Amino acid sequence: MINQPDVIVIGAGNAALCAAIAAREQDASVLVLEKAPEHLRGGNTYFTGGGFRCAYQGIDDIRALIPDMTGAEEAGIDVGSYPQSMFYDDLMRVTESMTDTELAQILVSQSHPTMRWLQAQGMRFVLMYGRQSFQVDGKHRFWGGLIVEAVGAGKGLSDQLFKMAHEKGVEVFYENKATGLELDGQGRISGVVVQSPEAVRVIKAKSIVLAAGGFEANQEMRSRYLGPGWDLAKVRGVPFNTGDGIRMALDVGAQSYGHWSGCHSVAWDLNAPPTGDRNVADLYQKHSYPLGIVVNVNGQRFLDEGADLRNYTYAKYGREILHQPHRVAFQIFDDKVRDLLRDEYRIAQCTMAEAESIEGLAQALDIDRDGLVSTVDSYNAAVMQGDFNPSALDGKGTDGIDPPKSNWALPIDTPPYLGYAVTCGITFTFGGLRINEHAQVLDTEGRAMPGLYAAGELVGGIFYHNYAGGAGLMAGSVFGRIAGSYAAGDALAGG
Ligand SMILES: Cc1cc2nc3c(=O)[nH]c(=O)nc-3n(C[C@H](O)[C@H](O)[C@H](O)COP(=O)(O)OP(=O)(O)OC[C@H]3O[C@@H](n4cnc5c(N)ncnc54)[C@H](O)[C@@H]3O)c2cc1C
Repeated sequence: MINQPDVIVIGAGNAALCAAIAAREQDASVLVLEKAPEHLRGGNTYFTGGGFRCAYQGIDDIRALIPDMTGAEEAGIDVGSYPQSMFYDDLMRVTESMTDTELAQILVSQSHPTMRWLQAQGMRFVLMYGRQSFQVDGKHRFWGGLIVEAVGAGKGLSDQLFKMAHEKGVEVFYENKATGLELDGQGRISGVVVQSPEAVRVIKAKSIVLAAGGFEANQEMRSRYLGPGWDLAKVRGVPFNTGDGIRMALDVGAQSYGHWSGCHSVAWDLNAPPTGDRNVADLYQKHSYPLGIVVNVNGQRFLDEGADLRNYTYAKYGREILHQPHRVAFQIFDDKVRDLLRDEYRIAQCTMAEAESIEGLAQALDIDRDGLVSTVDSYNAAVMQGDFNPSALDGKGTDGIDPPKSNWALPIDTPPYLGYAVTCGITFTFGGLRINEHAQVLDTEGRAMPGLYAAGELVGGIFYHNYAGGAGLMAGSVFGRIAGSYAAGDALAGG
């Protein structure tokens, strides 16, 4: 057992374990402190789809991440390209140009090198056929820059990271919650106050990496920072991310940064439990709304289901649902698109109904019947002519209704009709700590705090208002690797 490690990493999710592995690569001794018991380990990372957004020039860059891809598989796909400039522009667009340009530049430029680094460590990736491609002219066409996932999704990602960390000699203490940071006489971070079922003690280290997630599982912080009603949202992941890492750093003078009143939240099954279920994981999400319409209990539409590719709207639509009566919405489809619905629509735990008429569907789901009938009628009448293409912005929208549906507008006219009841599920919070290019935490005067690094959900400044699918894991890996590497270099240089 390590008494005084060179580096302590707080948390054991994706960002933390990338930091721990990178620190071990420099030969630093590393101790990971994890609040959860071992059987609940993995953080929100465990619940993810394991999808990573990264820049790539074409198939060669993808083959570098998936070296066992066969020639036959390659012949059946079209991955296009996703240059760094496009990744950067997507981040700018979805964040209303608020993203920190320096952090965004690092995220984008280091995305593919970091994926290669993970692959070299032993991580296995596959293409995201089911969620990020549609078959067009006999080929699977991918869109949106998010095309690769870890084998085994979030559980596979987490298991692989723990295995890699373990093989490199990283030690993990479970049920060891960090509660505070200690400073030495020179103001350098010198240790962590740790609470375990047996004791409260201080563990000294030369460098500390905070990677303990955001405050999405803290009802009090949610309503304080995100606003009224957010205390009632369902939590998609672990109950452990209660803002501890952020609070500890602020307590010793760190700077708060980013969109503290913003978060990532999605359409989530109405009857999902209050926090994540490790068996169902992310399958409570309902992300095929661009293929249908979304209404509230009054049967009224309230958002543009086809405003953009799903990857660029889903993370802001949870908020829209939270603000509807009873925090409830219904996704309505007809039989034409049934086969195009994502895999999460086929699980036993769906809150859904099927009916031969719109009136019957309204009755089965407790939606105002006249409201729904009138909405579907006026929506159908507004659908414009044009070719439907689910793998691109097809411009097949509506005319004369508000809100419009800007793409993929097909009439809802082919029974049986399907309806799925959803509410708001919060994924993670956007506000957090400010870091520099070495992932050092900055103080309120903008100076690097000696010995303190951060990565993952608790870093602020990257996401504002909205999010680009797959950027969370990528940011955690990019800045986790940087944090671990610099924290180790710093510690080995004497601290
Ligand atoms: C259902 C779902 C699906 C998602 N799908 C994707 C996806 O496909 N792609 C993507 O990019 N992103 C996805 N995300 C977002 C993604 O989860 C995050 O971006 C990423 O996993 C966060 O990693 P992290 O290491 O910062 O935090 P986490 O993985 O949450 O790890 C934080 C860890 O810190 C621990 N901790 C908390 N407080 C303390 C303390 N005081 N002391 C010690 N330990 C502590 C927690 O127990 C936890 O293990 C998804 C999220 C959810 C919930």
